[in-house]
Amino acid sequence: MSDPFLLTPGPLTTSATVKQAMLRDWGSRDGAFIAMNARVRERLAGLAGAGETHVAVPLQGSGTFAVEAMIGTLVPRSGKLLVLVNGAYGHRMARMAAVMGRAVAILEVPEDRPVDPAALDRALAADTALSHVAVVHCETTSGILNPVAEVAGIVAAHGRALLIDSMSAFGALPVDARTVPFTALAASSNKCLEGVPGMGFVIVRRDALAAAGGNAHSLSLDLHDQARGFEANAQWRFTPPTHVLAAFSQALDEHAAEGGVEGRGARYAGNCRILVEGMRTLGFQTLLPDALQAPIIVTFRMPRDPAFAFQAFYDRLRERGFVIYPGKLTVADSFRIGCIGRLGLAEMRAALDAVRATLAEMGVSSGAP
Ligand SMILES: *Cc1c(COP(=O)(O)O)cnc(C)c1O
Repeated sequence: MSDPFLLTPGPLTTSATVKQAMLRDWGSRDGAFIAMNARVRERLAGLAGAGETHVAVPLQGSGTFAVEAMIGTLVPRSGKLLVLVNGAYGHRMARMAAVMGRAVAILEVPEDRPVDPAALDRALAADTALSHVAVVHCETTSGILNPVAEVAGIVAAHGRALLIDSMSAFGALPVDARTVPFTALAASSNKCLEGVPGMGFVIVRRDALAAAGGNAHSLSLDLHDQARGFEANAQWRFTPPTHVLAAFSQALDEHAAEGGVEGRGARYAGNCRILVEGMRTLGFQTLLPDALQAPIIVTFRMPRDPAFAFQAFYDRLRERGFVIYPGKLTVADSFRIGCIGRLGLAEMRAALDAVRATLAEMGVSSGAP
């Protein structure tokens, strides 16, 4: 294997067996493909404890396409969306709503703070025009875990609809529709579910979807129409990402074999613990306190040692077989290292060895900011 390990927010390292599942051409009307598609949809809803109340609607494209389809299909033209923002992905949802001409408001906190349920409660009480609330489950900008269960309880108490961007959490961090009421949740094939990129999906309440005809601003991003296609003939409306779906089906088998959400979450938590402990030993400081850190991606403050230069650090780690990620924060100069994808303790330890060797080579004595 000469591919580098991707310690990033995605695309991510996948297993050899997931990649091998793509070595076949499938006809979109082929019975075997149709059965695989139906099974993937059922399993996705099952992962959210939502098989009875919701359906999973897959959609071509990256995760952003699924989030945009969720907002465009479910927020009616007369609706108003409140987006809870503590990073770039929250801002992106607000921008989508603005682009499609929906009324939108934001409730923002700094990137190193979780979204504020009490402020949400006040905002919903103050503005009865707000029909929908959108929140990011794990805000990948910083790696912070947002309190989605608390948010869901407040939104439900006010009788509004909740849309969750669970892109970087779904499959590793639990979210169960029976205890965390949500109208829709968007995620994709290639983050914690460890498939290859190319499709997203929205797990959406059946009643909300049925009522959403004619809402969408776009034909290709209309989930109501996409779902009607699946009901009519079990097929995708437009060319399906056949190889991506086959790889995703294999990835879901591997997810189940690992113990589902609990098993996947436990591996990532172990990766995150090793990473944070090891980096702290080298002097690095995390942006977030451990209590706010999701085991998905970790933001480290930029070292202050004048011998440290991020691009050289990045390039040398890449030469050693590890790809990390620049920071995306406005509150602090930083970089990120991911814990997700087909990586375990051995790969995290090897990544730490590479960081240690790289610092020595660069003449950096400490990672302290
Ligand atoms: C990765 C990510 C997205 C967008 O996914 P793309 O596949 O890059 O379009 C959206 N939201 C969150 C929280 C993410 O981590």
